[in-house]
Amino acid sequence: MSDPEAWRWRVPLAEVSLGPEEVEAVCRVVRSGWLSMGPRVQEFEQRFAAFLGSRHALAVASGTAALHLACLALGLKAGDEVLCPSLTFVASVNAILYTGARPVFVDIAGPHDLNLSVADAARKLSPRTRAILAVHYGGYACDLEAVRALAAGHGLKVIEDCAHAPGALYPTPAGPRRVGTGGSAGCFSFFANKNLTTGEGGMVVTDDDELAERLRLLRSHGMTTLTWDRHRGHSFSYDVVTPGFNYRLDEMRAALGLVQLARLEEANARRRQHTRRYREKLRELPPVQLSFLDADLTASACHLFPILLPAGENRLAFLEFLRERGIQSSIHYPPVHTFSAYRRLWPPGHDHRLPQTEAVAAREVTLPLFPGLTASQLELVTGAVQEYFARARGS
Ligand SMILES: *Cc1c(COP(=O)(O)O)cnc(C)c1O
Repeated sequence: MSDPEAWRWRVPLAEVSLGPEEVEAVCRVVRSGWLSMGPRVQEFEQRFAAFLGSRHALAVASGTAALHLACLALGLKAGDEVLCPSLTFVASVNAILYTGARPVFVDIAGPHDLNLSVADAARKLSPRTRAILAVHYGGYACDLEAVRALAAGHGLKVIEDCAHAPGALYPTPAGPRRVGTGGSAGCFSFFANKNLTTGEGGMVVTDDDELAERLRLLRSHGMTTLTWDRHRGHSFSYDVVTPGFNYRLDEMRAALGLVQLARLEEANARRRQHTRRYREKLRELPPVQLSFLDADLTASACHLFPILLPAGENRLAFLEFLRERGIQSSIHYPPVHTFSAYRRLWPPGHDHRLPQTEAVAAREVTLPLFPGLTASQLELVTGAVQEYFARARGS
């Protein structure tokens, strides 16, 4: 296709919901004349922290930056090992590698629960293990209480990758809490296809004052004051206490984020409605297996709607069948441990197989899910899935 605009999906995999409020918010920033990290970023951080119930929230340039800063600020370094799932986006694992630490892949629980198996994590502990990086796959909270218990028993840090799960809840004995607040640090992504978007952007949250201070320094070159402080006459100079990064968010993105955050609960509720409808339609279709059916749907951020094809089904033929009908689908994820860059992490002959991850990843297809998905779009998708299996079975 020479013109990318020429191809329009009848049902895209994801679609951003932006309205006149977002446009006005960004225009107001442009008119204000102050574009780099300033008052709107501060307000976005305060509101995000209040929404989650965390002490600190630091806005950053991406979810990957959030994960990198969390790993660094928690002191991960060469020689350390970090337990993490392989069924995730590659950024979760790269953040560990940036620090020199080694990711040790943990299997998922199984087809019913695509989050990491805490029992497998326990089997993979070593004297070098320093942290567990837990991902909340598709917006469904992993068993964070069990992860926390394992970590507490072995003096490990917990980093939560909440890229799929802003607003999701996990159960605690004292009642539900927002994911991102259960570990040492919670990392969020505001990439364009996530539940809350600023185009590119992210947030790292923590209750630990000292950790927040290290994150703040690392985010902006290790400098002790910001351009914004100096602009307001709060300071003339600065010291550099560590060689940090430029991982800041800007005011345009923070303005977008403030509008999106105000809409997040409503958008997540829509995602849950669509998920319920998908489940009703597809549950009667025995060849397709659904995951997370035991999870509390009202606690999920419903970022993805994964289905599992029967083992041995020709997935490419299925994806092509949907594509021909104008339905975009995807795979979440090719497991990270199978990519060539990560296979090199082990000595030759080392058995690094993850049986559940490999079996499920080979069967997984992600169907379109976004707040604005219409009833007729959803029917188009479920109708196509039904038609495919009716044909495949020659009925
Ligand atoms: C999107 C995503 C990230 C990375 O976020 P960016 O903002 O794109 O850097 C990390 N982990 C998971 C699970 C993601 O889906």
